[in-house]
Amino acid sequence: MPAQSIDQLKSSFRGELIQPADAAYDSARKVYNGMIDKRPQLIARCVDVADVMAAVQFGRDNQMLTAIRGGGHNGAGLGTCDDGLVIDLSRMKGIRVDPAARTVRVEAGCVWGDVDHATHAFGMAAPCGFISTTGVAGLTLGGGIGYLTRQYGLTIDNLLSVDMVLADGSFVTANANENSDLFWAVRGGGGNFGVVTSFEFRLHPVSTVNFGPTFWPLEQAADVLRAYRRFIVDAPEYVNGFFAFLVVPPAPMFPEHLHLKKVCGIVWCCTGSAEQTEAATMPMRTLGQPLLDHVGPAPFPVVQSIFDGLFVPGLQWYWRADNFTELTDEAIARHVEHGSKLPTMLSTMHLYPLNGAAQRVGKTDTAYSFREALFAEVIVGVDPDPANAEKITTWCKEYWDALHPFSAGGAYVNFMMDEGQDRIQAAFRDNYSRLATVKKKYDPTNFFRVNQNIRPD
Ligand SMILES: Cc1cc2nc3c(=O)[nH]c(=O)nc-3n(C[C@H](O)[C@H](O)[C@H](O)COP(=O)(O)OP(=O)(O)OC[C@H]3O[C@@H](n4cnc5c(N)ncnc54)[C@H](O)[C@@H]3O)c2cc1C
Repeated sequence: MPAQSIDQLKSSFRGELIQPADAAYDSARKVYNGMIDKRPQLIARCVDVADVMAAVQFGRDNQMLTAIRGGGHNGAGLGTCDDGLVIDLSRMKGIRVDPAARTVRVEAGCVWGDVDHATHAFGMAAPCGFISTTGVAGLTLGGGIGYLTRQYGLTIDNLLSVDMVLADGSFVTANANENSDLFWAVRGGGGNFGVVTSFEFRLHPVSTVNFGPTFWPLEQAADVLRAYRRFIVDAPEYVNGFFAFLVVPPAPMFPEHLHLKKVCGIVWCCTGSAEQTEAATMPMRTLGQPLLDHVGPAPFPVVQSIFDGLFVPGLQWYWRADNFTELTDEAIARHVEHGSKLPTMLSTMHLYPLNGAAQRVGKTDTAYSFREALFAEVIVGVDPDPANAEKITTWCKEYWDALHPFSAGGAYVNFMMDEGQDRIQAAFRDNYSRLATVKKKYDPTNFFRVNQNIRPD
């Protein structure tokens, strides 16, 4: 990377350019997953679209491996790279709510907490995830599964338009009317097609929700899972509840006798009234002998940020995932076996329901393929101590191996590690070849390849 070309970039760049010798380098290169320790040559912290165009041009002219960083949350560390260029969007935080049109325009450096804060003031929300610190960009481009999925669909089902900088440095808008092939591809196909600089989402009237957990002893886990697989199919769409194996954190909100106990549970988030929530969820919440059941009103942004203090940046993080169309008795038995062996306090397994509005979109309507799946499973090994990295990884892989034969064959791309090309194809199934065609049109040299990579046709 010649000093002369860096000087040239500096003359047209308004954000920060951070290199290994700079004081800010070590904090700027960090991503969420503490297992990832990459050292880029240059971090271009953009403040506007012009900066993004200049950074893409620079990466191309200097033939640099180029990563795009939104919220930096990717488990596999795909928001950074070794020896290359990181186009870091984290300073692009503009948000504009249009309350009359019920839409929001969000710049690509926002995390979901930024969006929740802005839209909550208007009594609305965009379908997002389960935690407020995840980047809007990466989560959206992979699909977006969250508390509002059953009622309002995946995040991409509420995406109206994107602005993008392509590999040739040009700027385009993609939506249902303009560059519609590109708009199809970015709804699930990840960061393969260019740098998205802003997103426009449809909003929904979501303000106070009924939130909280029901926990059961592990001995009741098989009964709970058998009841849950039926319950979630018939539950009204304003009911969301994901199943989890977890260790109860030693936090004041939980009774002391449950602290550090391994349990199974359902975490509820319902947009119906308190009465509707009680009526719809009680059959599940009164099953067997729950250890704890506490569901009550909470502002949506509070719900979204409730796990932030637990899952802080820098933890060791290894996860594996798959989609499931059904949960057989044998699969449940394996869940109970491996879920009971959670290796650390923060490790967990979640089953997110995907039915309702998300299933009403066709398999080929967006790049996200698994529209018939009922659950997204994610097995997550987490711990602050790098000495435990192997322990959490081994548990996670063994758990995944045991359940994979019962899966629909592929995972949600945003819950994948670096698992090879077969797994990427398995995630997109029949949509892969169409994605490869769009990739060839918009990024024929595979300039954007630090991602779950779609190879040009
Ligand atoms: C604690 C935690 C909770 C999570 N919860 C959820 C959840 O509830 N629901 C859910 O669906 N997912 C969830 N995820 C997964 C999350 O969607 C992915 O990790 C996602 O990649 C994160 O996006 P990011 O912008 O933070 O990541 P980054 O690491 O910044 O980027 C990830 C990928 O997106 C691409 N990318 C980023 N920004 C852009 C851009 N502007 N233009 C083009 N490409 C871009 C990058 O190339 C990279 O491949 C969670 C992850 C974590 C760690």
